[in-house]
Amino acid sequence: MIDTPRLKVWIDQDLCTGDGICTDHAPEVFRILEDGIAYCLDGSRVFNDPGGSAELATVPMNLEADVIAAAAECPGECIFIEVDEHAVALAETVGATA
Ligand code: SF4
Repeated sequence: MIDTPRLKVWIDQDLCTGDGICTDHAPEVFRILEDGIAYCLDGSRVFNDPGGSAELATVPMNLEADVIAAAAECPGECIFIEVDEHAVALAETVGATA
């Protein structure tokens, strides 16, 4: 079994209200910076340049549910989750479990 991250996430900072619900759910993936707006983290890297979908952060598998909950509750509706189809196909090929 392999653990291949299957989700990517990005934030549309133009819509972010800065309320911090995302950081409550997954502080390992989201961070509010000095401008009061949320950004994504990819490990120790902060995507601090509002670049829309070009700034895709990897979601650790153990945080998938938290990130999905954050997106569902985000009042700005500005958290976007994308499925890495290659990672999903790879996981299915080798029999990885969710
Ligand atoms: S929950 Fe949404 S609106 Fe609130 S800080 Fe996070 S990204 Fe911004």
